Amino acid sequence: MCGIIGYIGKKQAYPILINGLKRLEYRGYDSAGVAVFNGDVHVYKRKGKVQDLIDFAKGKNIRGTMGIGHTRWATHGKPDDVNAHPHTSGNGRLTLIHNGIIENYALLQEALKKEGHTFESETDTEVLVHFIEELQKRDNLPIEEAVRVALSKVVGAYAIVVIDRDDPGKLVAARKASPLVIGIGEDEFFIASDPTPIAEFTQKVVFLNDEEIAVVTRGGDLQIKTIDNEIQTPFIQELDVKIEAMEKGGYEYFMLKEIYEQPKTVADCMRGRINATEGWIKVGGVDTCKDRIFDANRFIIAACGTSWHAGLIGEYLFEELARIPVEVEYASELRYRNPIINEKDVVIALSQSGETADTLAALELAKAKGALCYGIVNNVGSSIARMTHAGSYIHAGPEIGVASTKAFTGQLTLLSMMAIHLGYERGTIPRSYYLQLLEELENIPGKIETLLEKASDQIEYIAGEIKDASNALYLGRGYNFPIALEGALKLKEISYIHAEGYPAAEMKHGPIALIDENMPVIVIATNKSAYEKIVSNVQEVKARKGKIISIVKEGDTVIRNLSDYTIEIPDTDEPLTPLLSVVPLQLLSYQIALMRGCNVDQPRNLAKSVTVE
Ligand code: GLU
Repeated sequence: MCGIIGYIGKKQAYPILINGLKRLEYRGYDSAGVAVFNGDVHVYKRKGKVQDLIDFAKGKNIRGTMGIGHTRWATHGKPDDVNAHPHTSGNGRLTLIHNGIIENYALLQEALKKEGHTFESETDTEVLVHFIEELQKRDNLPIEEAVRVALSKVVGAYAIVVIDRDDPGKLVAARKASPLVIGIGEDEFFIASDPTPIAEFTQKVVFLNDEEIAVVTRGGDLQIKTIDNEIQTPFIQELDVKIEAMEKGGYEYFMLKEIYEQPKTVADCMRGRINATEGWIKVGGVDTCKDRIFDANRFIIAACGTSWHAGLIGEYLFEELARIPVEVEYASELRYRNPIINEKDVVIALSQSGETADTLAALELAKAKGALCYGIVNNVGSSIARMTHAGSYIHAGPEIGVASTKAFTGQLTLLSMMAIHLGYERGTIPRSYYLQLLEELENIPGKIETLLEKASDQIEYIAGEIKDASNALYLGRGYNFPIALEGALKLKEISYIHAEGYPAAEMKHGPIALIDENMPVIVIATNKSAYEKIVSNVQEVKARKGKIISIVKEGDTVIRNLSDYTIEIPDTDEPLTPLLSVVPLQLLSYQIALMRGCNVDQPRNLAKSVTVE
């Protein structure tokens, strides 16, 4: 959440900051601001989008070769001009941007007020910058030392960058539980919450670790220390982020681009990992700790949001194919409920960003209890990737649309590969079925492509028919139950239509009371097993005059005849069905949101990469 960008070097900072903020806007977009230094610090900040900031700063003094910028996702204080970052200390010397939450801000603020500090904003961030100023003044400390001492007394999560007007040759950055990456150019440095604004300038980066403070200077010097004052050697890594992956590439919205990228991203996820002709499957992360994974008593999958839905499908996959007991937990619940976890457990964390605060904390807890921690993430070098014992990247490329699409199918691809691999190695699926699943997995990208080609007009038509609904119900059984949840979430997120997903048979235990001729009921009915049961569920909806939109496999006539509208998808083996059945639901939500005039990539109140609790 929230985007941070900083620059120090020889170039003009403002255009780099603005361009960076545009790239980071998907992380938070209720307000934006920059500070540039040219003899003095000039701060410009505005409620609204980055464009509002650009309009506001037009014609103003924006020169300078050092600066910081921020797009906010408000936690403390409403989104307005005053609460927007950067925030300045009382004496005007320090300017700071912050991602995260300072949990003990109220106590600190009380103490600072006694020292005569007054505050303009409602944010926790302003308290932090005043606190650093107070420590700096009191003991006449250099800025990096004042930051270090302040952070050792702060409770909470932060990624910060600070400018000291009286020591202007440097930027000071620090992180704890919020990501921060430093890009190393030719006598210049970039600091950002993720590599997207850096990649076009340099591929050389250092990911800061928790409780580390970095000082980058105009002279090209990078120093890293821990909060405990220990000097660290920076670990420089090469990025592999392509600029095209961060551009819309002719699509109106990132979400649409990302939906259409799925044939490629699913194939990328499998690349080098399976070969159906030769009959092998390799998931590197699993092999590095094979014994513990094979001997595990159970898997616990921890995740949030869309990743949690992928985790539910993981449960069906691991239990059916590999006969390993699985529990799927909301990371935010797992971390606070004193769960029973031990060395015989494997905790699998799913997170697109690899920075999700609750998922990270759940992993830390599991690690402390001796479990093997396995991360399935998209962002290379992210916190989860670094803190787990083993893991796998899904290789979906940057996902910018706030509503996750290609990362979800990437997670499903990875979970499917793991389950098939473990099932075969543990002898719970026969070789013939194993080979069939491998072949079918390799066919999935082509099938997604066919589906998108054939079904998109019909999906657009259906979107037009139901776009004015106030509620919608999604029903599915088996592997399609989590897809019903995911379909409902996609609709809620971007079109603001209230939607619920249910196991189809659960409908009669409550939601059936809501069904009338105004209620669109989206039934995901591609199942082979329990087909008759889902036919009965569709009949029950029809008897109550619900508007039935069915997703069926090609050639289906029974459910098609009962439905008002039907979307056909290619057939596949049941465990792989979710990889196809989710795609029309993504596109349906997209079309509905578009027709309702919603900002598809930046839905209200949401932000990508949830780095706060
Ligand atoms: N807690 C800070 C605020 O509300 C930072 C929020 C963010 O991460 O954007 O301003």
